[in-house]
Amino acid sequence: MLPNRTEVLIVGAGPTGLALAVSLRQAGVDHLLIDRLPQGQNTSRAAVIHAHTLETLEPLGVTEALIARGLKLRRFAIRDRDHARLQLRFDNLPSSYPYILMLPQDETERVLGARLAALGGEVHRGVTATAATQGPAGARVTVASAEGEQEIEARYVVAGDGMRSLVREAAGIGFDGEPHEGSFVLADVRMRWALGRDEVSLFFSPGGMVVVAPLPNGSFRVVAAMEDAPELPGPADIQALVDARGPTAGENRVEEVLWSSRFRLHHRIARSYRAGRFLLMGDAAHVHSPAGGQGMNT
Ligand SMILES: Cc1cc2nc3c(=O)[nH]c(=O)nc-3n(C[C@H](O)[C@H](O)[C@H](O)COP(=O)(O)OP(=O)(O)OC[C@H]3O[C@@H](n4cnc5c(N)ncnc54)[C@H](O)[C@@H]3O)c2cc1C
Repeated sequence: MLPNRTEVLIVGAGPTGLALAVSLRQAGVDHLLIDRLPQGQNTSRAAVIHAHTLETLEPLGVTEALIARGLKLRRFAIRDRDHARLQLRFDNLPSSYPYILMLPQDETERVLGARLAALGGEVHRGVTATAATQGPAGARVTVASAEGEQEIEARYVVAGDGMRSLVREAAGIGFDGEPHEGSFVLADVRMRWALGRDEVSLFFSPGGMVVVAPLPNGSFRVVAAMEDAPELPGPADIQALVDARGPTAGENRVEEVLWSSRFRLHHRIARSYRAGRFLLMGDAAHVHSPAGGQGMNT
């Protein structure tokens, strides 16, 4: 069983929950971090970490470890087939980190989790928040786990529980916005790519955009907007997207799909980030397009 009382109950151990737990641990603030999953999600999802995020994470002591695992990219181009329409460099960013760092989200979560463990903290896994209420003195959250149900009293409850946040619902905070038309394909692939491994390339084409970005382990991330994406995109689907929208020069051949997913977008923002004892962060507070790789960073 978990303690029945804590200062801060963090619901959700995604990147935001883990980062907050590290901060609270460093500040010596009593807290509990719970997640309904028995283990981390182990999928690559958000693959970009921006310069300012690396700066923001410095006090948490994880920036060096992230950089050691990631791939630094200094160039971004908007292309139309074989023509570069716009080329940007990150070298001149006024930052100690003048690049974008490519790193799959499961790696980022592992680094944050390892830092939390090194500070003596932990994620209580397999624990689901099922209800939350609040009064003037604090909040009360019902949690369910293999050991049964229990109530936890907390001075504050922080929602790191993602887009369908139970805490946000319990707080009665509206999540204004709408679903985005169409869907996105996301795939980490091994492929021959004539443009090389030091640029993020965004191709605009009549069929929709496709982004190709190198990942640290020699693979590439391909993201494309589609009207109705296949549920589990395979090599032929990704090849067809690259052929229809990408470069024609050189050899660009998808050899293997390591992980793929389809997702539908919402553009939504919480009406408030706080209601009394309940606070929102991450996807519980805002969700939007992955274009620009700002979701997890925000
Ligand atoms: C397929 C996919 C691809 C994506 N690609 C990109 C991308 O390319 N770039 C980008 O910037 N972003 C991307 N995102 C979004 C990015 O993953 C999120 O912005 C980021 O994970 C948000 O972090 P978070 O900590 O707020 O929430 P999440 O990572 O969603 O974590 C929420 C956690 O809360 C837990 N939880 C939920 N409800 C409960 C409950 N009731 N009790 C206990 N635990 C609970 C969940 O198990 C989960 O671990 C992608 C997302 C998906 C799904």
